Amino acid sequence: MLAPLNVEGDRNPSSWNDGKVTTTPGFAQAYRQYAEGGWQGLQHPQDFGGRGLPKAIGAACGEMLNSANLSFALCPLLTDGAIEALLTAGSDDLKAVYLEKLVTGAWTGTMNLTEPQAGSDLALVRTRAEPQPDGTYKVFGTKIFITYGEHDMADNIVHLVLARIPGAPEGVKGISLFVVPKFMVGADGTLGARNDVHCVSIEHKLGIKASPTAVLQYGDHGGAVGYLVGEENRGLEYMFIMMNAARYAVGVQGIAVAERAYQQAVAYARDRVQSRPVDGSVAGSATIIHHPDVRRMLMTMRAYTEGCRAMASVAAAAYDAAHHHPDAQARKENQAFYEFPVPLVKGYSTEMSPEVTSLGVQVHGGMGFIEETGAAQHYRDAKILTIYEGTTAIRPTTSSAARRCAMAARRPRPSPRRSRRRKANWPRATASPRAPCSSACPRRAWLSRTWWLSSRSRARLRPTPCSQARCLT
Ligand SMILES: Cc1cc2nc3c(=O)[nH]c(=O)nc-3n(C[C@H](O)[C@H](O)[C@H](O)COP(=O)(O)OP(=O)(O)OC[C@H]3O[C@@H](n4cnc5c(N)ncnc54)[C@H](O)[C@@H]3O)c2cc1C
Repeated sequence: MLAPLNVEGDRNPSSWNDGKVTTTPGFAQAYRQYAEGGWQGLQHPQDFGGRGLPKAIGAACGEMLNSANLSFALCPLLTDGAIEALLTAGSDDLKAVYLEKLVTGAWTGTMNLTEPQAGSDLALVRTRAEPQPDGTYKVFGTKIFITYGEHDMADNIVHLVLARIPGAPEGVKGISLFVVPKFMVGADGTLGARNDVHCVSIEHKLGIKASPTAVLQYGDHGGAVGYLVGEENRGLEYMFIMMNAARYAVGVQGIAVAERAYQQAVAYARDRVQSRPVDGSVAGSATIIHHPDVRRMLMTMRAYTEGCRAMASVAAAAYDAAHHHPDAQARKENQAFYEFPVPLVKGYSTEMSPEVTSLGVQVHGGMGFIEETGAAQHYRDAKILTIYEGTTAIRPTTSSAARRCAMAARRPRPSPRRSRRRKANWPRATASPRAPCSSACPRRAWLSRTWWLSSRSRARLRPTPCSQARCLT
């Protein structure tokens, strides 16, 4: 159902008329089928109507969904992020009202960070949320580039919005997170009046054309009613939980579109007859898959795709162990391990996808450049993956491990003479970090701060000694 709609979405994108967005014909019906099949809740808790399956399974299913239709899959992807944020920071009341509807796919979720002046730099967010006597907030401002910010596929849309409460500190420390529903929700879960959030236009894009990318105007008619998620001024922290889930999922989108481009290129190469193979294995003209350079391209595509899939699968397994392992220490270690590859899954898998889809076009020769073949759509669709959910340049520099790498690279290297003298004076830093005296051991802390350095680089840094006689490190 979804794979044939992929081309249709490219040729007949979502359209805007007087505040309403109509998605590509077939999308609304496909979404109903998707939700009724229970796919939205695949990896979400059973308490809220989900299936409670591991992320490793969710990621594999997500890849297939994205391979079939990248534009469609974005909607469930953002709903997953909203669910994750509410599960982590939402009050019991918010969870009771919104989670089941999101998990079952009855409603969809969005992520509202970007504003005209605040893209990569969220410290510049200006949308404001004014506290009301009844404990709610009135939200005012403009959000741009909001994926599935308006559509006709579900009854309600739950916007998660970053905004500032008056008097909040400047910069990222003064940003809070709010739930702003498109339709107000009654205590019994029924839908009420339209909230004051309106879609004023949607973008015309290079790729993923079927997914509506909305400009949302909050509060032009008295203020959009919003509900604070968690505590004031901790919005960015909560949003990063949502974004970490979304960034992993965007990495999987890269793998998915690469896989589809690869499968299409292989099928074409097995079919297209052109030229005699250089090794003389076929007397006359042969299918182009016989040519070493075509095989090189196909194998490059496959190697990139499978390598990235392996990386994403290892990360998903770590996430599952971090949440479900019976041993608390193993959970902690797996969580630390999971956080390290997430920027790599996002950064590398998305950067490789335009390369792989470009090779897909190349394998098709002139036909790859012709829209009817479909190879060009994968190439155009893939480009956004390196941009949204944090551009490639932003993501690695904001991960703490990568930031430490960058700082270490900037640190001046000691001259060889000074280095020799220091090495002679300092204890060698080769001991195992697995044998500390206690969790408060300063040496253990030093080792864990520097584990990612090579032993040579680590030896250049001053190790923190431990005064405990029984310390094995
Ligand atoms: C189709 C689409 C869907 C989107 N969906 C959503 C959505 O659902 N919700 C949402 O909130 N946003 C969404 N976005 C916005 C998207 O996340 C931003 O476009 C992205 O974060 C980049 O911000 P920007 O466009 O303002 O670019 P800018 O921040 O202006 O960056 C421009 C260039 O400068 C570089 N740059 C900026 N700062 C640095 C730095 N410190 N170091 C190195 N390089 C830097 C960037 O890497 C980039 O190459 C979407 C965007 C698009 C196009």
